[in-house]
Amino acid sequence: FKFAKSASKIVGNRNFHSTSASLANTTKLFINGKFVESKTKEWLEVRNPATQELVTKVPVSTKEEMEAAVKAASDAFPAWRDTSVSNRSRIISNYKNLINKNMDKIAAIITEEQGKTLPDAKGDVFRGLEVVEHSVNVASLMMGETVENVSKNVDIYSYVQPLGVCAGITPFNFPAMIPLWMFPLAIACGNTFVLKPSERVPSASMFLVQLAQEAGVPDGVVNVIHGGKEAVNFICDAPEVRAISFVGADQAGRHIHARGTANGKRVQSNMAAKNHATIVPDAHKERTLDALTGAAFGASGQRCMALSAAVFVGESKNWIPELAERAKKLKVAGGATPGADLGPVISQASKERIHELIQSGIDEGAKCILDGRNVVVDKEFSKGNFVGPTILTEVKPHMRCYKEEIFGPVLVCLNVDTVDQAIQLINANPYGNGTAVFTSSGAVARKYQREIDVGQVGINLPIPVPLPFFSFTGSRGSFVGAGHFYGKTGVQFFTQIKTITSNWRDDDISHGVSSSMNMP
Ligand code: NAD
Repeated sequence: FKFAKSASKIVGNRNFHSTSASLANTTKLFINGKFVESKTKEWLEVRNPATQELVTKVPVSTKEEMEAAVKAASDAFPAWRDTSVSNRSRIISNYKNLINKNMDKIAAIITEEQGKTLPDAKGDVFRGLEVVEHSVNVASLMMGETVENVSKNVDIYSYVQPLGVCAGITPFNFPAMIPLWMFPLAIACGNTFVLKPSERVPSASMFLVQLAQEAGVPDGVVNVIHGGKEAVNFICDAPEVRAISFVGADQAGRHIHARGTANGKRVQSNMAAKNHATIVPDAHKERTLDALTGAAFGASGQRCMALSAAVFVGESKNWIPELAERAKKLKVAGGATPGADLGPVISQASKERIHELIQSGIDEGAKCILDGRNVVVDKEFSKGNFVGPTILTEVKPHMRCYKEEIFGPVLVCLNVDTVDQAIQLINANPYGNGTAVFTSSGAVARKYQREIDVGQVGINLPIPVPLPFFSFTGSRGSFVGAGHFYGKTGVQFFTQIKTITSNWRDDDISHGVSSSMNMP
């Protein structure tokens, strides 16, 4: 095989890629503060989705390697837990600065492995960086509660304490943001961590742990193993792991939740989505169509919060041709090409699945008014996994293209007569990640926000991902678990509360034995 020529140019010294002749450019593991070469015989290829060039090969970690990673995390826990919260916060602050400084390099790695455009890849890093920034405030986030004098001389107070070893399993679509949702907050709270990045985009995670080490995160506090299902099952079963953070598709998410909780672990599992936009005829037309175009086709539809279903209320359906005009103008090219709006989708298999779902819509009676299946791209990307913007209209809820998450640049359009019907339709969909309503009526917006059964709602805003002082609150089929990512609930997920009831008296009176429950 031939490795992509650009691979080593982007970041310069990639400690995490092997330079040994026999393992050229393979990805290493990160165990107890060292980048180590795997002894595995099984390697998974990572190809640039715009060109098919081989970027790196990822090891399927051996059992011994995974055990070593968990042991390192377990051994590092007591000293890290006892590191003062101010010093932990200082290290996270250094980390924040290093991520900021290296944003362009991380973005370049993402574009090379995942395919998204460079500006969008920077957004991927930036949205993760915001969670790191918030984690710097960990001392305030971990404050307990006190009530004085609950009985004579008796006070009650609580401490928020770390759990121990936590683990994270991440998807391909946000190679920086989602790992950064997980380990920085977990370690800020005093936990140690084992990360298993998506085997399709490992290098952003590896660079992020390289930077964490530079920031002063001690050996063993963050570790990385690689692989697929076996690594995931190892994490679900490892007795030392107290909590698992997962983001990805439904099958793995439900499996990890079931297996992890059966083993007594906390699990937070963010899964798939079908996010609806409701377009009310009184909305600002130009702004709405701009927002819809960006949110449906940006990142080639491979965002869990992509607006992939548009529900046109009444006469707003007459705007669809103008939406198609906007979508047609989007430039499809390799993500590093200046001016590119859409990069490739992640794999050939994903491209084929998207094509197949478009065809299923047509076969079931939808109209394809914009077909991106034969999109033409520059010659240098002729082998890439490109799908152009696609719009299916007259879609009905029973169609597969509506029922399944397509995860490609495909917008399915449905028509209803009233806002009530739109709400009913959306509430009947099993997913509850995000939704947006476009309207100029405060009364309609308020009705929508109250009655819609979806965890994250945008009003005249297409992708309502909350900032880290709130939490990522996807609901129903899009989430299962013990607490949402980041924000207050994120801190609760990574910590446990110890409550102390103390009785300090300044007399030497004894009240004798009492065998009944004390009344205050
Ligand atoms: P995926 O589920 O295929 O992979 C995610 C992780 O799970 C990977 O690390 C992978 O190795 C592991 N995995 C995959 N199949 C497994 C199996 N059968 N058993 C055990 N582990 C398995 O997801 P993906 O394709 O990488 O990511 C896209 C999906 O993630 C989409 O469905 C998207 O909506 C979802 N997603 C959700 C959110 C959210 O916050 N709700 C955010 C981003 C992505």
